[in-house]
Amino acid sequence: MKYRVLGKTGWKVSVLGFGASPLGDAFGGIEEKEGIRAVRAALDLGINFFDVSPDFGSAKAEIILGKALRGIPRHKFYLATKVGRYAPGEKDLDFSAARVTRSVDESLKRLRVAHIDLIQCHDIEFAPLSQVVEETIPALQKLKQHGKVQRIGVTALPLKTFKKLLDKVRVDAILSYCHYCLSNITLVQLFPYLKAKGAGIINASPFAMGLLTEKGPPKWHPAPTAIREACARAVEHCRKKKASIARLALQFAVAHKDIATTLVGTASPKKIKENVRWLEERLDLELLAEVQEILAPIRNKAWPSGRPENQ
Ligand code: NAD
Repeated sequence: MKYRVLGKTGWKVSVLGFGASPLGDAFGGIEEKEGIRAVRAALDLGINFFDVSPDFGSAKAEIILGKALRGIPRHKFYLATKVGRYAPGEKDLDFSAARVTRSVDESLKRLRVAHIDLIQCHDIEFAPLSQVVEETIPALQKLKQHGKVQRIGVTALPLKTFKKLLDKVRVDAILSYCHYCLSNITLVQLFPYLKAKGAGIINASPFAMGLLTEKGPPKWHPAPTAIREACARAVEHCRKKKASIARLALQFAVAHKDIATTLVGTASPKKIKENVRWLEERLDLELLAEVQEILAPIRNKAWPSGRPENQ
């Protein structure tokens, strides 16, 4: 496993991070035992960065992750969780100081730890950004003084949201998803800005939440038809060539040196081993060019998310 430093935190995080949304059934129901084995397999292979949220499976993912990490020395892993979203969909959003403070205590209990390494405001495009600046982040800073959290980050889908927020307040890291993968590389445009702001870069969803896999996306996937169809064509192209699109997608995302860690979601120990093995193998540049050509009509396209004023 290779490690890169996350922003100014000084943390050496594994280039492949563990995305825990599948522990909350994001990609189909999972057995707790299987989830625990997946976390243990990740640790054994040198993965030291774990990302979760109370929102994943309405806390199921945090509960399983907490059980899986029981007994592991605390210095062996970095734990990132979130505040602001508490159930899948847009049902339960609350970025108020009182709710996020309570949420951190709930997460500490479920995760069975004394501190959270990185606490992230989850999908800030759904919040009034003035509230995140004036209320949410100051509440998290207080928790930092009490030692409950160590660093503060934010997550969002629209890239403009990061800039709107970071123009006003400092954070230690940003988590972006579906913006640095085979079909969309727009996150690179933000790198100079993020570096200047001292924010570490976490890239999630190298498989574009399943679009760039043989199995395809889950039912809830928000991508419009044009993106789905182009990705399906790219998957088919790789299948015909007896190549794995997932392998190509992962190798492509992890290769960028400005990205500290790439979060992959899977609760399968077998897939984790496969993903780690792929890191050691050579990226097929010819196949990459072919796939990028297929994806050209939808290159750098995403879908709307959150409040209109945050886009
Ligand atoms: P992803 O792009 O990692 O895709 C997940 C899909 O890829 C699943 O269906 C999984 O089974 C499949 N997969 C994994 N390894 C595979 C392999 N070797 N072969 C074939 N298929 C494989 O999407 P994701 O899970 O949404 O993103 C990763 C993580 O990033 C999440 O679990 C979460 O922790 C984080 N994330 C956070 C946010 C946010 O905070 N707003 C948003 C998206 C993702």
